[in-house]
Amino acid sequence: MSRQEASHVVMLPSPGMGHLIPIVELAKLLVSHHRFLITFIIPSSSSPPPKAQEAFLQSLPEYFDYILLPPPLSDGSFDENGGPEAQICLTITHFLSLIRVALATLTKKVTLAAVVIDPFGIDIIDLAKGFDVLLYMHFGSAAINLLFTFHLPRLDEEVEGEYRYMQNPVILPGCVPLHGKDFADPFQQRSSETYKRFLDQCKRFNLVDGILVNSFIELEPGAIRALQDDDPRRPPVHPIGPIIQSVLNCEVDGSGYLNWLNNQPSGSVLYVSFGSGGTLSCDQFHELALGLEMSEQRFLWVVRTPNDKSSCPSYCNAQGEADPLEFLPDGFLERTEIRGLVVPSWVCQIQVLSHDSTGGFLMHCGWNSTLESIMHGVPLIAWPLYAEQRTNAVMLTEDLKVALRPKANGKGLLDRDEVSRVVKVLMEGEEGKRVRERAKELKDLANRALGEGGSSRKAMAQVAIKWRDQR
Ligand code: UDP
Ligand code: UDP
Repeated sequence: MSRQEASHVVMLPSPGMGHLIPIVELAKLLVSHHRFLITFIIPSSSSPPPKAQEAFLQSLPEYFDYILLPPPLSDGSFDENGGPEAQICLTITHFLSLIRVALATLTKKVTLAAVVIDPFGIDIIDLAKGFDVLLYMHFGSAAINLLFTFHLPRLDEEVEGEYRYMQNPVILPGCVPLHGKDFADPFQQRSSETYKRFLDQCKRFNLVDGILVNSFIELEPGAIRALQDDDPRRPPVHPIGPIIQSVLNCEVDGSGYLNWLNNQPSGSVLYVSFGSGGTLSCDQFHELALGLEMSEQRFLWVVRTPNDKSSCPSYCNAQGEADPLEFLPDGFLERTEIRGLVVPSWVCQIQVLSHDSTGGFLMHCGWNSTLESIMHGVPLIAWPLYAEQRTNAVMLTEDLKVALRPKANGKGLLDRDEVSRVVKVLMEGEEGKRVRERAKELKDLANRALGEGGSSRKAMAQVAIKWRDQR
């Protein structure tokens, strides 16, 4: 097929590597199975540093084109205190005029079949309508969270006060009951600008022509069926996951953790990490360290400096802008040397999860990490921190039963005894056996969904046909 004959699709992630990587993985899938031509329009961001973005873009296969939009000037109009979600929304608004120019230039050269945005890019709706293309949304979280967003406007009308004070949980069709305290962060303070903005965004989700959700029917049958029922207020929803990042995105391992993993017995290592930015309080960090030590299990822990380091009690030895290792309890590294490895700040997670020595993952329930674990059959300990992670944790623990959830003590801490208990159960306890088996079952289901004739492969093919017909 020549370039002229191939259908052309624009992908427009919101700023940040966390949004760029999943949409690029989606594009790779589209190209490999359906031979689309893809152009990314990428708003460049200051975080992570443009260098990481640049390196990533340069490593893209040459069949991808991209247009990099310059970051907006810092004119004081950003709400520095607005939290990451508010920040992203504002940035997109700043980028709208540049996106219009980029789309206008592109449409002079090629006929576009579809534009794919992510939820933070919903402001692009009106703009895209002017170009007579299909507008699709890539929803990179669980289907239950998508279903929740469609339900939110009604909840907003029916419920008085903060959701966390509701007497009864919300029961979305086919889903595990959700208590208000488990809702995502933007829905925890209804008077906030972020909440209002999200509510407004959720109300406009139905204006797109279709939604690609990074989940699969076998994983979330209840939520996905509910999303696909005949509700005229909802666009078609296509479960096309799990789409996860490839090992190719990884930098070379400079700290030797892969070597270390190579020397551990099969399935013996608990991987401990809280996503790309998750951090703990000093007290919690300390309890986690001592709990890992008490468990006597092997572990690979990606450590970050605690988020309240200035109030760190005397047991933390760190001074100033410290190495995260300095916050570990006295003598911890020496005592755990035979079975633990602590790596500051970052590892290539996909390499760790796909390693034969990895047998469990203590994680923050970010959706990408969740799907990466499922694809590799790794059982979980759910330790949610922010965003929609509490909702994911409830689903993983109570519905999918692929995770164990440690319980906080009276002070809201997961103390060392509890950490040690749950780690032992996951890695070798009789009680954890079901969770370990469940992880293997989900791995099989995920691989089947993506394979020839699988549910997600078919869903993607249906979308491809629609886009092709659009030309
Ligand atoms: N990433 C990386 N190296 C780093 C930081 C980030 O490769 O030092 C990649 C990583 O692959 C991950 C993604 O960036 O999937 C996460 O970026 P992040 O969530 O920090 O981006 P944000 O959305 O917060 O801007
Ligand atoms: N990640 C990684 N190394 C780390 C921490 C995170 O490669 O040390 C990657 C991880 O594989 C995943 C992404 O960063 O692809 C984190 O995305 P997720 O949705 O789980 O959480 P978020 O960072 O958005 O909170």
